[in-house]
Amino acid sequence: MALQTEYVFGTVCSVDLFEDGTDELYKDVFLRLNSIDDKFNINKPYSEISKINSSAGQKKVQISEECFSLLSFSKKMAELTDNSFNPVMGALTFLWKDASENKKVPDVKKIEEAKNHCNPDSLVLTNSKADDKIFYAELIDKDAKLDLGAIVKGYACDELVKLLSERKVKKAIINLGGNIYVYGKKSQSENWKVGIKNPIDNGSPVAKTVLLESGSVVTSGDYERFFEEDGKRFHHIIDGKTGMPSESGLSSVSVIYSKSIICDVLSTALFVAGKDADYVKRLNLDNVQVIFIDKSGQIIDKSK
Ligand code: ADP
Ligand code: MG
Repeated sequence: MALQTEYVFGTVCSVDLFEDGTDELYKDVFLRLNSIDDKFNINKPYSEISKINSSAGQKKVQISEECFSLLSFSKKMAELTDNSFNPVMGALTFLWKDASENKKVPDVKKIEEAKNHCNPDSLVLTNSKADDKIFYAELIDKDAKLDLGAIVKGYACDELVKLLSERKVKKAIINLGGNIYVYGKKSQSENWKVGIKNPIDNGSPVAKTVLLESGSVVTSGDYERFFEEDGKRFHHIIDGKTGMPSESGLSSVSVIYSKSIICDVLSTALFVAGKDADYVKRLNLDNVQVIFIDKSGQIIDKSK
């Protein structure tokens, strides 16, 4: 069966399993994606993340091991990126999501107030004393909120790769709202080609083509989700230091690596911090490629 598409994570997700694409396998793939979305989506009131958010400042919430792991990893990533990536930024991101719906920049006072409630330390993760398989999360600041929007698609991509490898799938293309994973070798003689969009001029759609045997390509940019006020663009990636959409001089950052979760976190963090941030080094990763495109359209390719 050819490529299948569903709307998950609030975006278009498609998976192509080529000759291994049976009905049953596609069903399992989308069940897995939806189960992740059900746990982590801030817009679903029953998700574990929403439960933690709605209990903020009141009580700890029992969570699954999967949620505990992703939250622990997110906190670690916040620390390694000086909070350029920050999972406890809901106070700001919710404000900017409203702003985007109403196409109106939030009140400065509200931004200043929200900025005070984005500390990753206010997320406290614990184990039950009696049973180390029971996990809890608590936001100790009643005005803080989790938002895993900058990591969950990367996580989900890697989870699908695990599933496909268990099922002995030979090759696949996963595209979760632009979060790409090309899995397995394309053919004996050919590598996969992944296009990186030109963020400046949509008339010439591809700025660069990346060739890879297998791996993930994730881009964060200012050109797909934004609104304008008085001719100024306000995009959806927020700099916690200013409380505003980041202004690092970049239009997009693409990260290419074997783990999509790392690509997702790093593309967001580098988009906020700018092209000179040394996060790849801090994370001690090999074989990472980072492609920055600045506001003038210049391409800066950094590989390690
Ligand atoms: P996309 O979701 O468009 O692929 P990102 O991975 O960069 O792009 O994630 C952006 C989303 O993450 C935003 O919509 C918001 O929910 C949240 N977010 C915005 N800024 C940050 C940030 N600095 N750190 C963590 N999450 C953020
Ligand atoms: Mg991201």
